[in-house]
Amino acid sequence: MRRLDAIVVGAGVTGSATARALGERGAETVLFEQYVVGHRRGSSHGATRMFRLAYPEPDHVRLARRALESWRGLESAAGEELLVTTGGLYTGGWAEVCGAALATCGVSREWLPAAEAEERFPGVALDGLERVLFQADGGVCLADRAVAAQVRLARAAGVEVREAAEVTRFAIDDRGIAVTSGEETVHAPVAVIAAGPWAGDLLFELGIDLALRPAFAQVTYFDPRAPGTPMPPCLVEAELGPGVAAGGYWVPGVAGARLKAGLGTPGRAVHPSLAPFDVDPEREALDAAWIARRLPAFEPAPVESETCVYTMTPDEDFVLERVGPVVVASACSGHGFSFGPLLGEILAALAAGDDPAIPAERFSTRRPALAASRRPAR
Ligand SMILES: Cc1cc2nc3c(=O)[nH]c(=O)nc-3n(C[C@H](O)[C@H](O)[C@H](O)COP(=O)(O)OP(=O)(O)OC[C@H]3O[C@@H](n4cnc5c(N)ncnc54)[C@H](O)[C@@H]3O)c2cc1C
Repeated sequence: MRRLDAIVVGAGVTGSATARALGERGAETVLFEQYVVGHRRGSSHGATRMFRLAYPEPDHVRLARRALESWRGLESAAGEELLVTTGGLYTGGWAEVCGAALATCGVSREWLPAAEAEERFPGVALDGLERVLFQADGGVCLADRAVAAQVRLARAAGVEVREAAEVTRFAIDDRGIAVTSGEETVHAPVAVIAAGPWAGDLLFELGIDLALRPAFAQVTYFDPRAPGTPMPPCLVEAELGPGVAAGGYWVPGVAGARLKAGLGTPGRAVHPSLAPFDVDPEREALDAAWIARRLPAFEPAPVESETCVYTMTPDEDFVLERVGPVVVASACSGHGFSFGPLLGEILAALAAGDDPAIPAERFSTRRPALAASRRPAR
């Protein structure tokens, strides 16, 4: 059996970032991906994702600020722009709490009267709102390109990337963990499970019971009414509550991508192996109605829609922890992409036994919010 320093399962934004970080630490690493890099069945595909510093909790604001540095580091290593800064607008009760968290962390922000914001960002309509929060560091991650760049850099750092290589078996022993895919079994002191919506099942096999809920998600793309229409900043319209309730969010079109909108709230529970899922016309209609109201400079007729899978935790927070020879890397609930490059550094540190400098209790597998939803014992 071949002995390695580390194994990573899953080449989405989290696993590819971790493999890159491990390779750059000099760890002999194999990255297993059951499909091909960039496939459309999990959580990381598509042209764009929103990046923001605006979070209701100071812990996340601080983490997002670190993530911004990691994105810039990835860009300089990859030699390409991967996070385009557009600024972000945040509205509703949720934005009030984000404003307070940004203030606590000393992050620059502006409260704009709605009328002033409409003047500053022509084409945006903010009727029914008194004021909106503007934060200048908001932006757009170039999703497909970022995953491809991380895999390229991982390979350049000596990581072996196995595509179409589903991991089907694990065996833990006193020296670590053996991982089998097809005819190949490799062993290492540690395996990072970054399997996105498939993680719940894999971790259950490893005795780590986290009822992660894979859920349907969808975005819809829209075109401006007229050529030369200015692209707005990112926008999130939300009230406090589970998921991004109330309106939704849009991600402006940059680097050749179209503007897209989505409901932040997760859809029905799904099994990711049945992806890709059909477009939900009701969600598409809700997005179109919201765009018609909030972005009159754009054609409300959907150009196309794209489906994807969220992995939800009951408290919508990440699970980042080493449990014996296993590093749990579940970071989604609809907002994990923007932390991608930083998560790689954090997870590589956990794999190496170093301090990842994160609020450990917050991201722990043993936190109360995760206890309530344990699966029935077999
Ligand atoms: C529609 C939508 C919009 C979103 N918008 C945003 C946004 O604006 N901003 C933001 O920050 N986040 C956003 N997110 C969330 C973000 O995209 C996810 O948090 C992130 O992509 C999760 O990446 P991952 O690497 O953990 O999972 P994935 O990308 O799903 O990667 C897991 C990988 O593991 C592989 N795998 C699973 N099981 C095995 C196995 N047994 N063997 C080998 N390989 C295996 C899978 O094939 C997959 O490639 C959005 C998500 C969706 C779905």
